[in-house]
Amino acid sequence: MSLTISELKVRNVAVIGAGPCGLSAAKELRREGHKVVVFERQSQAGGTWVYNPTVEADPLGSDPSRTIVHSSVYASLRTNLPRELMGFRDYPFVSTGQPYSDSRRFPGHREVFLYINDYATAFGLTELVRFETEVVYAGLVNGKWRVRSRMANGVTVDEIFDAVVVCNGNDTEPRTADIPGIDAWPGKQMHSHNYRIPDPFRDLVVILIGVGSSALDISMDIAQVAKEVHIASRSAKVGVLGNVSGYDNLKLHPMVEIESVHKDGSVIFNDGSVVLADVILHCTGYKYHFPFLDTNGIVTVEDNCVGPLYKHTFPRALAPWLSFVGLPLMGIGFILYEFQSKWIAGVLSGRIGLPSEEEMMRDIEALYLLLEASGTPTRYTHGIGHCRMEYMDWFAGECGIPGIEEWRKEIYYATKKNYIVRPHAFRDEWDNEDLALKAHEDFTKCRSNGVDRTCIS
Ligand code: FAD
Repeated sequence: MSLTISELKVRNVAVIGAGPCGLSAAKELRREGHKVVVFERQSQAGGTWVYNPTVEADPLGSDPSRTIVHSSVYASLRTNLPRELMGFRDYPFVSTGQPYSDSRRFPGHREVFLYINDYATAFGLTELVRFETEVVYAGLVNGKWRVRSRMANGVTVDEIFDAVVVCNGNDTEPRTADIPGIDAWPGKQMHSHNYRIPDPFRDLVVILIGVGSSALDISMDIAQVAKEVHIASRSAKVGVLGNVSGYDNLKLHPMVEIESVHKDGSVIFNDGSVVLADVILHCTGYKYHFPFLDTNGIVTVEDNCVGPLYKHTFPRALAPWLSFVGLPLMGIGFILYEFQSKWIAGVLSGRIGLPSEEEMMRDIEALYLLLEASGTPTRYTHGIGHCRMEYMDWFAGECGIPGIEEWRKEIYYATKKNYIVRPHAFRDEWDNEDLALKAHEDFTKCRSNGVDRTCIS
């Protein structure tokens, strides 16, 4: 039985962060009728897409008292998904055709920033955001949430909310590799969070640890000026770069780890090879980090597993009053955030039901068992690579909206394939133009009301 509008519950909701997750949460919550305040510590919306040429004073990001720079975006960054995939469903990421816009299919970071800000404007979200206001505490008090925020002038304010939606981003707190002998090693270490431009690496020998898309981008960026770049990865995936042409100074060490480093500057790999290096660059990803959140131990973060969470979203014991948007890794970002946000908004109003706590726990335990049986390390608990489409479609089903479009799935897989074939050129060469056209036909069908890009769904 569906509820009538007057039966839907209106909640006071605090959203923490005004990146893509926070903005989509704000939009869906307000659309459902909730009262929303978005707290954002930066002076503009866009989260990680607000490029900041400044880097943190501690290049490894291990000093907890350092001044945080939120974004990890580097100057040359272009999206790793084509724009048809990247956008929200109700606001396709089509080029505006403005002279300043970057109309490429895999545009640079500024185009994404502009898109997110257009989205905020088109849906009137900016008025919900309190900029330069950092949440320093969010904790439960008598069944409600006390949220303490600090404004730019240092003044703190306490407010009470029914629910908190955590959207503070997951790409700011560096994870680093442990390297035996590092204290005596004379070289410089840094994390990719603090990488912006290749110039500081001119004529140096650089060892890069990791194999994510940033690692590969950065290695090619640096190889243009460095003497040598070595990519070391425990994964065999780095072999993909075997297809990179034109980088004679880029050396691959697939399925290899650094065994030890020494005071003469040498780096010894576990396959016996030795390199005299100047810099070790950790492209080893990020930690989930919620320094403001106090759940009396109900939600834990251990080895990058935030838990226990139902569908990587609600802690079963605090549902629906606490939720997280954007924790899953390896999904199709923005549309997943949109689906998760719609679900959270509908559950909070009572329009969408949740299973009992016991059933949620059984679902969580089933996931943990599956991960254990497949030998998946705990730190990949929120990786949804094995079920990304089904996972996203599950939200759509709960929300009563169409699932992921066929063209979106096909473009996703075509892009992954193209990446293997052309790791250095997948952003500029492809053979799936027909699929891009299908996406654009879809966008044209749903665009309306003269609001450029907006699809009212
Ligand atoms: P963010 O964008 O990080 O936003 C979080 C916001 O929360 C920030 O504005 C921050 O200031 C604010 N905040 C944090 N703590 C507080 C607090 N205590 N109080 C108030 N505000 C707070 N995704 C793609 O889809 N395509 C790509 O090509 C792609 N490339 C990427 C490349 C890099 C180098 C990185 C790091 C990420 C990339 N991503 C990409 C993933 C990217 O993280 C997502 O696109 C998206 O930005 C996640 O949105 P978010 O809202 O969760 O987090």
